[in-house]
Amino acid sequence: MTNKKIVSPGEQLGSCEEFIAGKNTFTDKDDIYAAAVGEQESFGRMIQVNNKKMFVLITEGMEVYCIVRELTGTKAFVSCIPILKDNERSFPDFEAVLPVSSIRHGYVENIRDEVRIGDILKAKVTKIERQDIDVSISEQGYGVIKAFCSRCRNIMIINGNNLNCNKCNRIENRKLPYGYNKPKDQGDRYGSKYSKFR
Ligand SMILES: [Zn+2]
Repeated sequence: MTNKKIVSPGEQLGSCEEFIAGKNTFTDKDDIYAAAVGEQESFGRMIQVNNKKMFVLITEGMEVYCIVRELTGTKAFVSCIPILKDNERSFPDFEAVLPVSSIRHGYVENIRDEVRIGDILKAKVTKIERQDIDVSISEQGYGVIKAFCSRCRNIMIINGNNLNCNKCNRIENRKLPYGYNKPKDQGDRYGSKYSKFR
């Protein structure tokens, strides 16, 4: 297998002189074109498009992991990666905004009691307008899933409704996904997925 190039429908893959048209291709005159989005593959003279790994587009409602890059009084700037199913192809990171109004139901007095720079969030895409993408963590199941102590950068442990640093004993608040209960799956289970952000 060679040429792991991504092609889209209508893209010319080669000529019938060079290649034999394989899966997900069509021929027109003497040329072979892609009939699907996928990876161009060739086996000997056979050329085809492998579309088993589906491309995901950013859509409203898509679930993402985000890292908080910057904070202002009214919004957080986050970098996101979609939470993908097994057959989906990885997607480049994209930048989004988490408005303070999408952090929790109700009034937020201080955004820094909800999210902080470096926190990892599970969020949902709520708005796409041209290049502007908004995410939300206000619903149950969304929020900060990994937080680092703002004093010593240790990973904080969820304790009731707060986060504790067991290194320097600092206590901080965040918008957590599961209300007051410590989620069963809290821990390093997600570690590998965030590693690209470190
Ligand atoms: Zn600490």
